[in-house]
Amino acid sequence: MAEIKFVKAPALKEKVDVSTIGFGTCFTDYMFRMDYSPEEGWHGASIVPYEDIKVSPANTTLHYGQAIFEGCKAYVTRDGKPVVFRGKDHIARLNRSARILDIPQVPFDEAYNGLIKLLSIEKDWIPNGPGQSLYIRPFIFASDSFLGVSVSQTYVFLIILSPVAAYYAHGFAPVKIMVEDHYSRACQGGLGAAKTAANYAASLHAGLYAHEKGYDQVLWTDAAEHKWIGEVGSMNILFKIDGKIVTPELDGTILDGITRRTVLQIARDWGYSVEERKISVDELVEAYKSGKLEEVFGSGTAAVISPVGELICGKENPVHMVLNGGKIGPFAYKMYDYIDKLHTGEIEDKYGFVEPVE
Ligand SMILES: *Cc1c(COP(=O)(O)O)cnc(C)c1O
Repeated sequence: MAEIKFVKAPALKEKVDVSTIGFGTCFTDYMFRMDYSPEEGWHGASIVPYEDIKVSPANTTLHYGQAIFEGCKAYVTRDGKPVVFRGKDHIARLNRSARILDIPQVPFDEAYNGLIKLLSIEKDWIPNGPGQSLYIRPFIFASDSFLGVSVSQTYVFLIILSPVAAYYAHGFAPVKIMVEDHYSRACQGGLGAAKTAANYAASLHAGLYAHEKGYDQVLWTDAAEHKWIGEVGSMNILFKIDGKIVTPELDGTILDGITRRTVLQIARDWGYSVEERKISVDELVEAYKSGKLEEVFGSGTAAVISPVGELICGKENPVHMVLNGGKIGPFAYKMYDYIDKLHTGEIEDKYGFVEPVE
């Protein structure tokens, strides 16, 4: 494996107080970069100063959207050690997304070592207040300069870092969600299982509509019938129904969320019965009416657990569900607290989720 090159920045930036800035607005001093060409494969692994990159106006990603990304987080444990949460699983998923978009897979060890080396250089940027973290954004985009529609020959892989405030700095804020029955984001045979720009492009308009109606996000249903529950824009959805943890199965239209996996594994260990299966909107409404829909929450790297306080189904005769009086439910709270304490080393990590940075 080639040595990772390091290009020193002429000057370092002033560190910020993350509690005063918005998500994804501030970036650290360095980024990781690798390039792909058919002749050399993935090559040139380097850590370089964070700066604007030049792309051709004919860059294929700008026109045809061949782009994938990841999102994970680094934390400082209570005893001051920098760690990354399930970094290996995130690099592995980047490669699964790559397969779906016909992007050449990155060499796993080189990518993972690049991530760890970048984090060890930038460890002083990991904020250590409660709930704070360093958000990690690995991404790959096509870099051919060519207007023909085809799979790109060349690619750029970057990892950038952004310190972020605690998601729940002002206490849990359960979200209001609209079950979508008109727009679609992903379909059978589509890109739903990839973490790709296209899925976000397909979701923005419906999200804006939901916002206008006073909802925070959309819960997608299947594109063919709007009958089966999928996921929320940037998180998976889980239900506690009659004591069981139920979540839609990975059917190719939703993302295999790492937080989803974490939650399901811990729930099983806690003795809960966990079901990954099809869930219809009708089943949810029935469960709600009979008092069996105990909790609804989303899972994703950004919020970890995002309690759903209200769900609305149907635009004609909407069924309006209020969950736990619009507050976080006990299971979601216990899960959030457990994962939060894994991040900081307050609870021993028997799973090997927490990976040392140095
Ligand atoms: C990133 C993402 C999630 C959450 O995945 P995690 O690995 O838990 O962060 C869920 N759905 C979509 C569409 C996403 O892009």
